Amino acid sequence: MLIDSHCHLDFLKEKEIEKAKQSGVAGFVIPGIKGYSHIANKLSEKYEGVFFAVGVHPLFINEAPKTALQTIYEVASENPNCIAIGEIGLDFFVKDADRELQKAFFKNQLEIAKKTKKPVIIHLRKGYKEFLDITEKFRDLTYIMHMFSGKHDFAKALLKRFESVYFSFGAPVIRSNAKKSVEVLKNIPKNTILVETDSPDLPPEGFKSPNVPSNLPYIAEKLAEKFNMDREKFFDLTFENTKEAFKCSFQG
Ligand SMILES: [Zn+2]
Repeated sequence: MLIDSHCHLDFLKEKEIEKAKQSGVAGFVIPGIKGYSHIANKLSEKYEGVFFAVGVHPLFINEAPKTALQTIYEVASENPNCIAIGEIGLDFFVKDADRELQKAFFKNQLEIAKKTKKPVIIHLRKGYKEFLDITEKFRDLTYIMHMFSGKHDFAKALLKRFESVYFSFGAPVIRSNAKKSVEVLKNIPKNTILVETDSPDLPPEGFKSPNVPSNLPYIAEKLAEKFNMDREKFFDLTFENTKEAFKCSFQG
């Protein structure tokens, strides 16, 4: 059994949930993009194993409602199916994005995570130094590094800095040319590894778009090979790690 720690089910056809369950995916986390998603909440009520997060993605700040931060705080405080704040962070890969605005939103949402005692799902592309500066005051949160693409030294810095940090991997790491991440994979503690699809984005090499959560067993199997681990053992390991990261049983 697997948990897709990051899938945008609110951007996919609903039938993909059943399809994924039949393929062995028992749990799903739907991250927020523009704060709170009504569709994500509805899906979490309707399907066992489906949970969601609330958060403003660094590249969608201008599209989020003005009240987004207040709503994030309220939903995270009150809704038991909301299990994290995310996806939040910095995206300095996109050159014309407003970096100061990103930093301010990131900080505000870390504050909310602290107040509501929720883990954070991190979207980070470049901006590693700024990430370390901002999180300096938030060392005791649980960090889930979505589609981690940093180098080994950065992974080491995070492990040293935070009491609790997880690294989530998906299709980019199993690409034939993914050398850098493989180095990271071999050197992080096994109890920090999660798996994800980030569907509908990032389908595995040779798979058609959109990516879907039922591709996760394929991705996880290839990842298990990278770790030199038995398929079932690797699946069980990431299942337990994900439950621990989100403090969620993924039932009911
Ligand atoms: Zn995402």
